[in-house]
Amino acid sequence: MKYTVASRGDQLSNDLQETIQTRLNAADLIEDTEEPDIVITVGGDGTLLEAFHAYTHRLEETSFVGIHTGHLGFYADWIPDEVESLVTHIVKTPFQIVEYPTLEVVIRYRDNNSSERFLAVNESTIKSTEGSLVCNVDIKGEKFETFRGDGLCMSTPSGSTAYNKALGGAILHPSLASIQLSEMASINNRVYRTVGSPLVLPQHHTCLLKLLNDVSVQVTIDHFNVSLDGKNVDSIQCRVAEEKVRFARFRPFPFWKRVKESFIGE
Ligand code: NAD
Repeated sequence: MKYTVASRGDQLSNDLQETIQTRLNAADLIEDTEEPDIVITVGGDGTLLEAFHAYTHRLEETSFVGIHTGHLGFYADWIPDEVESLVTHIVKTPFQIVEYPTLEVVIRYRDNNSSERFLAVNESTIKSTEGSLVCNVDIKGEKFETFRGDGLCMSTPSGSTAYNKALGGAILHPSLASIQLSEMASINNRVYRTVGSPLVLPQHHTCLLKLLNDVSVQVTIDHFNVSLDGKNVDSIQCRVAEEKVRFARFRPFPFWKRVKESFIGE
């Protein structure tokens, strides 16, 4: 089996990365950063998100597992003390795989009718960087509402505990192949009206955000800003992607237990 280890780059994460490499090489596993079967991340959720984006071209072949060297992560749910046990599990392949839905984001630009496609594990957001963002929200090809406010967040079920939660969105179990649209400070008065509640859309229901004003915007995919390079965003289309993210599971750690441990405590 081919593996790679990605570190956040701090001393503790780098040391653990080296320990894992030594142990896996000794067990005759092959280190391969180009075509790994498993990517072990050491750091935090951000390290796992970065690793996901480095391997979006081979999601069917690559699984991810995360060790957190800071606080408990949602994706990085192994602690440094468990590294020996994790390595032993990895060596004894095959392992169980859990698949979570991802979000497909297509950004269309006014310039040259060009477009770009992205996948997100957590969410994509669009925010105005000056004044209010005004956009039509179409669902399944029908106009639903005109939004005016700071921005909108389109989240995956596993991302529902991240930015979406801070916006008052619901926590969704990742077995529900869906996307959640939540508002950032919508203006609601006699002129502008939005539904106000987060919306959960099932698979195959496309959400199209069509920009109506000329404000400059920031578009994010998980932890990074899309490089707009002066291009003008015309619309953003979101739906549940065909592709899934695969996590290597070596022990049960149910989603609701993770939610409880992250937000409520023991
Ligand atoms: P970061 O270093 O700013 O950390 C953000 C925090 O979000 C970390 O504590 C991380 O563990 C946590 N997190 C990430 N994914 C999560 C998930 N699925 N469920 C629960 N918690 C999660 O940034 P990062 O580590 O690179 O993570 C990027 C993520 O940060 C974005 O995808 C976004 O969801 C989140 N974020 C949240 C807010 C907010 O809550 N107001 C604002 C910006 C970004």
